Formats: sequence, C-alpha cells, structure tokens
Amino acid sequence: MRKFIWVFIWAGIALAVFAVIYMFYPSAAPAPPAMGAVDDARIIAADSEPGNWLAHGRDYRGHRFSPLTQVNRENVGELGLAWYRDMNTNRTQESTPLVVDGVMYITTSWSRVFAIEVQSGEVLWSFDPQVSGEYARKTCCDVINRGVAVYRGRVYLGALDGRLHALDAATGAKVWEVDTVTDRSRAYSITGAPLAAAGKIYIGNSGSELGTRGYASAYDAETGALVWRFFTVPGNPAEPFEHPEMELAARTWTGEWWDVGGGGNVWHSIVYDPDFHQVYLGTGNGAPWARAIRSPGGGDNLFLASIVAVDADSGRMKWYYQTVPAENWDYTATQDMALADMEVDGQMRKVLLQAPKNGFFYVIDRADGSLLRAHPFAAVTWATHVDLATGRPVENPDLAYLEQARWVLPGPLGAHNWQAMSVDVAAGLVYLPVQQAAFIYSMDREWQDTGGFQRRYGMWNLGVELGELARRIIDNIDEQPEEKGFLKAFDPLTGDERWAVELPHFWNGGVLGTAGGLVFQGDATGHFTAYDKDSGEQLWRFNAYSSILASPVSFMHDGVQYVSIITGSGGGNLFGGEGPGPEVWASARYGNAARLLVFSLGGDETLPPPNLADRSIPAQHLANLDEAVVARGERLYNNHCGFCHGFLVRSGGAIPDLRRMGEATHAAFGRIVLEGLYASNGMAAFADVLDAEEVEAIHQFVRARAEEDRRVALGEKDEPRLTWIGE
Ligand code: CA
Repeated sequence: MRKFIWVFIWAGIALAVFAVIYMFYPSAAPAPPAMGAVDDARIIAADSEPGNWLAHGRDYRGHRFSPLTQVNRENVGELGLAWYRDMNTNRTQESTPLVVDGVMYITTSWSRVFAIEVQSGEVLWSFDPQVSGEYARKTCCDVINRGVAVYRGRVYLGALDGRLHALDAATGAKVWEVDTVTDRSRAYSITGAPLAAAGKIYIGNSGSELGTRGYASAYDAETGALVWRFFTVPGNPAEPFEHPEMELAARTWTGEWWDVGGGGNVWHSIVYDPDFHQVYLGTGNGAPWARAIRSPGGGDNLFLASIVAVDADSGRMKWYYQTVPAENWDYTATQDMALADMEVDGQMRKVLLQAPKNGFFYVIDRADGSLLRAHPFAAVTWATHVDLATGRPVENPDLAYLEQARWVLPGPLGAHNWQAMSVDVAAGLVYLPVQQAAFIYSMDREWQDTGGFQRRYGMWNLGVELGELARRIIDNIDEQPEEKGFLKAFDPLTGDERWAVELPHFWNGGVLGTAGGLVFQGDATGHFTAYDKDSGEQLWRFNAYSSILASPVSFMHDGVQYVSIITGSGGGNLFGGEGPGPEVWASARYGNAARLLVFSLGGDETLPPPNLADRSIPAQHLANLDEAVVARGERLYNNHCGFCHGFLVRSGGAIPDLRRMGEATHAAFGRIVLEGLYASNGMAAFADVLDAEEVEAIHQFVRARAEEDRRVALGEKDEPRLTWIGE
C-alpha cells in the first residue's frame, strides 16, 4: 500500500514539474520578432542596427551610407553573387529595397511588392495592386515604383494608379486602401516611396507633364484617415484657398495656370526631420514647362521647384526655399534630401543637403530655410550662379528660348535626378551620380502661330516644342553639348570635386557609400562597380548584362554582409533611347532584364550567359508611303508616342521598339492604337485623341523610320534623315 502511495506522490511531482516546464518553456526560447516591427525610435537609431535598411534612405537622415565594414576596400575583390532572382519583367526598375530582420521588401514595375527571405531568396509573399494596364498612358516615365515604407507591422505602397495600400508585413494581406487622387479627371500617378513617421504615412504624386496640380497628403498609419493635405501650387483663385499658404502662393502667379494644373508635384523625396518634427516636401516643375505660357504676367510661381518644410502633425508651413523661381526648364526640387549636422563658417548647423536637377548643390539651414551654400556640381548654362545674398539664381539671358531655340544644360532629365546620392559625413563628401544631358528648348509652334496654347487633355502639355524635337536635335547636332555621366565625390561646403569617374552614358544608377571605404554604383553599361571612396579608383565590377538605374543597399544577416541592386533601366531616358549606341547601353545589346542581385564575400553564383538581343530591323512594305503623310505622322508620333517608344522610334529596351514590329503587329496597328488591343500590357487606346487617318500617318512614319535605320545599318545610307522617300 505504502508503495502505491509513493508511486502517486512521485507521479504527482513529475506531473507538476512537466506542467511548470510546459508553462514556462515558450517564454524561455526567444520569440521571433514580429515582421515589419519598425517604429520612429528604431529608424532614428538605425546606426545601432546597421544590418538592417529600415527606411528609403536607410534612416530619416537619408545618407544612404552603410556603417558595415565586412566588405571593404581590402577584400572587395572577393565579392561574388550570393543569389539572384529574375523578377520576370523587362520594364524599368527603380526600387530601393528595405531590409528588416532578415526580410527584404522590394517593389517592381506595376507597383508589385515582394517580401523575400534575404539568405535564400525565397519569396515569402507578394502583392499585386492590380493597376490597370491602361494607366501606363498617365505616366511620364514607364510604370515604375521606387519602394515601400515598413512601419508598425505593415508595408505601405503607393500604387501607380494613385491608391495608397497598407499591407500586413507578415502576410501581404491588405489592411486598408485609400484613393489619394483628388481629381480623377487628371492624370495623377504615384511612383515614389511613402514616408512613415510620427504615426502617419506621407505621400505625393506625379503628373505635371500631363497637366496636374501638385500636393502631398498625410494619412493616419493605423486607420488610413486623411490627417492633412498640402497643395504645392494654387488652384483657381476664384475659389476658396484650401489652406492659408495658397493665398501667399497665388500672389506669385498670373494668367490661368490652373487650367493646365500648374504642376509642382511632390513625386519623389519626402523627408521627416525628428530634430524639428517637420516634414520636407520636394516639389516639381511647372505645368506647362514654359513660363511664358504658364504665368504670362511673370511671378515666381510658388511653390514650384521648392523645398517646403511643414509641421509633421498639422501640415502647416514653417518655411520654404525655392530653388528656381519662375521655373522654365522642367527643373525640380524633388531629388533626395539628406539631413546632417555640419560645421558651416565656424558654427554647427542642422543642414539639409540637396542636388536638384538644376545643377547647384544646396546646403540649407533646417531651422529657418536660409541658404548657406549653392555651388554648381555639374556643367550649368541656364544660370551663371546663385546669389547667396538673395538666395536666387542669376539666369543667363543669352539662353532665353522665347524667341529662338537654345541648347541648355542641364536638360529636363537634370544634372542629377532621383537616383540616390550618398552622404559621407566623416569625410565631408557626397557621392553623387551626375548627368550631362543638354536639351534644345524651343517654344511651341502652335502657340506661336495662334497666340494661344492648345491644351491637350490626357496628353503632354509642355508649351515647348516636342513635335519637332527629334528633327531639331538632328539639325542642331553639331551644337549639342556632349552627353556623358559622372560619379563624383563632391564637397557641398567648398564646391570642390574630390574625384570624378567619367561614364559613357549619362543615365546611370543611384549610389551607396560604405564605412568599408567603398562606393557602389550600377550604370548604363550594365556593370555594378565598387570604387575606392577616397580616390574613385575602380576596385571591383560585375557585369549584369542589363543597364542599371536603381540604387544599391547593404545589409547583414547571420554575420554575413550583403550588397544588393536590381537591374533594368528605362524611366525618363526617352530622349534618344539607345543613346550613343549598344556598346554603352547594355539593355539595347542584351535586353532589359529586371533581376535582383545579392552579393557577399565568396559568393559563387553565376548568371546565365547573356543572349545578344536581335537588333535587326525587318524590311518594310513601303509601296503606299506618301511623303506628306509621313511628315504629318512624324509630328503626331512625337506628340503622342515618342515619350514611351523613343524619339526617332528608337526604344531604350523597356518598351517595344516599333522599328522591329513583325507583320502581324503591323496588321493590327490600327486596332492596337485605337481599340487598345494591348491595353493590359500598358498600351492604352488613343481613340480619344487620334482618328484612323492620323494613326495611318503615324504608322507610315514608323515604317519610314524603320526603313531608314535598316538602310543605315546595311550601309546603304549614312544620313539619319528622312530624305530617302522618292529617291
Ligand atoms: Ca517633370
């Protein structure tokens, strides 16, 4: 009996021990972090976890300078491909991936989001906002997206069609969705990454070329409720001002700018400054481009091409700085802004750094917006200098284009565009992708002939001549300033260039600096290169066989440092397509592939061997071509088709090259253009702006251009001019 009692007692003790172990066991093992558990404090303290890339610019300061040193100038020669993933599109890629606790969040064309395990490359989930293919027509520069925000367990995506999505970071399931577009009759789109800070999601939009009025909105991160909206240009002054800043702005405009929209779109950089609890909005160019049409009585046209500081909670303006009063060249202040504490003239200042399109590098005091420096970082001809006393640029009167067409540097693509720069505070340097790409500005011929601007609803409204652009470029080619690109180490306080690497094409990728002494950049030639950050010496390069436009990031997982970039170019490089030739434009030579590349020391993965793209141009059926119809088609093509398919009908690789259409496509040409046969691919119907006769004229021009380039390729012809008809 006693035996039984002991058995019961021991069994009871054992059961109790098991119960205690069971109760406490789950908390004894560390719980995995919730996915996407990022908040303001983590982003502000990002340097304490250098293995992550928590926000678009890595942290709120936006330096894009990784503190990681495992990959460094001594061992970068051992850097190799750890893994790659084909993203299955040949459209343009501009995304900066975020990396949070071992998961990468990256977007591709058509605003698709992928959550990827960083060591294996396995896709954990993906999200497709199902943007209608026809929306491509409402964009300037392909169906691109520059990335997401990850915040408080969610992933925030601004989709091309203007909807803002909040997704569950663990599953990709949609939590909420809001429409950010105030006026659906206008061609608004979103390409930029949202900013998450202070419990809100901040987002702007694109579309000035197509005739929109710019604004940025702040939404409650939890609920999606609108908190505030800041318009960057005034609407019709006969109607009430939406907020007091519009009354101030309206005094700087004349005429009927609101009919075309005014522009000023906040299409890329929005930055949060925890030091002042304010948000900086970088605003875009005027719509139309030509100020003589946009605001015929003059005026600065606030807040075009400006940096506007607003209170993060109220959206009320604290200060603004306008880089280009009376903007006239498609110049913007939308380029990335970085925040730093720097000693300027013997005094510590909290400064904002920006290298906008116009070619001057601005150092601005974040406390009040006062201008501290504005040195040129590239060849600039539109202005002689920026007057620090007035804060205003001094325009070059010799290059006014109202009376006569003028080559101007920089052109609409800017001396620097959205491709990221990297700020090296310790060295006092900025590593900057610089573009030398001039443009011939010429007033709209219809406007000159009729004295009135003909607004084209749903089409580009620039007020400068694009209909004759390609021909003017050919006719003035001898005067065109040379096109090239640079990677520069630039001192924003002195304006000194520490070093510069010259690149054969101007349209290259963004930049990443690292504490390992390296600067990484992908370029048009398809190479991803590491340079010594002190000298610019090339230390390592990888041939990706596809032109690169996106910006690299670095992160660490399980003790291994990785560097990552996505390939596939295009975007705004619509003014010349292949550029100087396939030797420097890899996407013309091999095709434009969206491929996510992830490198680590000792990585030994290899890409499949590249295939040379078929660059032959089929012989054309030319029997029915009529010279007058071809000439009309040229003008129509340049006004309606050239932005995407390339001027001179030469595409850069992201969008089909119409010179290489097969006979089946030729046979369906009218149905494609008028009925939207390929609308789901992005080729929307144009029946609202073109009729069958005009489409036939465009078709004849496309055939004529194709035949011309075919004959040049065969050596039968050496002039790139449409002079052969009737030969
Ligand atoms: Ca623009």
